[in-house]
Amino acid sequence: MTERIEHYAGERPLFDLYHVEEEIENALQSRVNLKSGAYLVIDQTEALTTVDVNTGGFVGRRNQEETILKTNLEAAAAIARQLRLRNIGGMIIIDFIDMDNEEHKRRVQRTLEKALQNDRTRCTITQISALGLVEMTRKRTRESLRQILCEPCPYCQGRGFLKTAETLCYEILREIVRETRAYPTERFTVLASPQVVNKLLDEESTSLAALEEFIGRPIKVQAESTYTQEQYDIVFF
Ligand SMILES: [Zn+2]
Repeated sequence: MTERIEHYAGERPLFDLYHVEEEIENALQSRVNLKSGAYLVIDQTEALTTVDVNTGGFVGRRNQEETILKTNLEAAAAIARQLRLRNIGGMIIIDFIDMDNEEHKRRVQRTLEKALQNDRTRCTITQISALGLVEMTRKRTRESLRQILCEPCPYCQGRGFLKTAETLCYEILREIVRETRAYPTERFTVLASPQVVNKLLDEESTSLAALEEFIGRPIKVQAESTYTQEQYDIVFF
């Protein structure tokens, strides 16, 4: 490889010069924008990866079939590239935009197959189904880009969602009822994130007052700025 390697002595980082930073950033996003304004949504779970093709916006009645074909063709090439960049292995399901025209379906299928030929990792692919789905597998080799560069989010444990402040308010109120039965304490202090505490003292203040009345004990609420939204403690004494 020696003769192929060139020493770069420039000042600008190579990652900037060749837009590598940008590509890595894009390859970690679930949304991939295509030039036409359409976009892909790539969703990786442990069992399988789904790729959803979306037209970005309104598709007029005129030339509707042509626009859909163009979008699916553009998507097919982009999908093959993204699977390679992200090194996604295992089962992959692609949801193209529905096409009625059989010839169009074949063209999209061929474009995808051709684009996958550039892939050194072995892929198998099914025909586009009546619902516009293509099932494919790509051999798992090493880890995916996401597994190499990322770790599950500690705030949501990788779910991608947090319980809302409202959900937490009710969880806390139910927990207090449970604690009241278990421990005959004089009062409670709730330690929670500022968002949850604000909700408890504002929109949920009547629920809080009703609960205090119900259990016959005062409930103190205290914001802990270091707590994440889902974190709370109920202290009783
Ligand atoms: Zn998260």
